[in-house]
Amino acid sequence: MPITDVTIVRRCADCSVEIGTITVKKDNMRLMTNDLNWCESCGTETREVRDIAQREETVTAEQASYPGNPPVEDVTAAEFRRRRGAGIAV
Ligand SMILES: [Zn+2]
Repeated sequence: MPITDVTIVRRCADCSVEIGTITVKKDNMRLMTNDLNWCESCGTETREVRDIAQREETVTAEQASYPGNPPVEDVTAAEFRRRRGAGIAV
């Protein structure tokens, strides 16, 4: 089955941040454009560059294994006051 659609990645020409992707017919593919697009990163309108998206898209998986709040090691003093405040003999 012939590939008729291609995915184009649009990037800011200045900072290369990805603006978005578009899917176009291969025949209508247009990589050159002088259109200006708003770039959030630059905070201004910039030219865009277009690239054909790779088939194997690099999935930047969010690191699910972020360490939580580091355990507070030095709780002794706070714990002491808490217990004393609660009337627990320490
Ligand atoms: Zn930009």
